[in-house]
Amino acid sequence: MDRPLAGNCIDYAAVGPIALATGMYCLPVLSEETSAVTNIKNIYCVGRNYTDHARELGNSPEGEPIVFSKPTSSLAQSGVVRLPRLLENIQFETELVIKVDKTCSGVSESFASQAFQQIAVGLDLTARSLQKELSAKGLPWLLAKGFDNACYVAPFVTKPAHMDDVCFSMHINGDLAQRGRVTDMLFSIPRILSFISRYITLYPGDIVFTGTPSGVGELSSGDQLELCLEGLCVDSVSVV
Ligand code: MG
Repeated sequence: MDRPLAGNCIDYAAVGPIALATGMYCLPVLSEETSAVTNIKNIYCVGRNYTDHARELGNSPEGEPIVFSKPTSSLAQSGVVRLPRLLENIQFETELVIKVDKTCSGVSESFASQAFQQIAVGLDLTARSLQKELSAKGLPWLLAKGFDNACYVAPFVTKPAHMDDVCFSMHINGDLAQRGRVTDMLFSIPRILSFISRYITLYPGDIVFTGTPSGVGELSSGDQLELCLEGLCVDSVSVV
């Protein structure tokens, strides 16, 4: 299902469940200029997948992947991240993102390694102060990770033959902010997909953020970000 346009929602009460179920109504699609975020179905994320990042936040690596999700409404449109007015200390987490293209339910790591053909660089934006506050109370992180514009994904590209060699980075105002390598992940991408698929069926169009390396920090309005994959700048983002 394509992402609906903001402010162009169906009135479910007026339409009724039978009309929806029989396909009498369909959701509107994004306009051309926002095509980078169409066809994304579910957004899953893995936390603490790099030892150095887990330690910089005072956490210990876990024995199994930490999985959470973001609503598709959190997807920022191409080229711009709008900082929320009601939240502060919005931190960037630069991550390799994969797009699932095969249905995965209880799959092996071997199957999972063939279940995605496209990768991208993305930003898992986090309202860090709120996340710490919620975590301390044992409450869900949703508002700290799922607010509008909390998810940015550069255009997807075909994955290279050797995924282990993939590196990515993000620059802020021309300075290197974060750099990560697939070989430094605690849990490999096939392991992550296999693990999630034990509990949640992954479908074509689902995307998975695979965790951030160290170097997370706060974004400011006016920052200009460059997202790089394999040493090449693949996207530019203005923070407003
Ligand atoms: Mg993250």
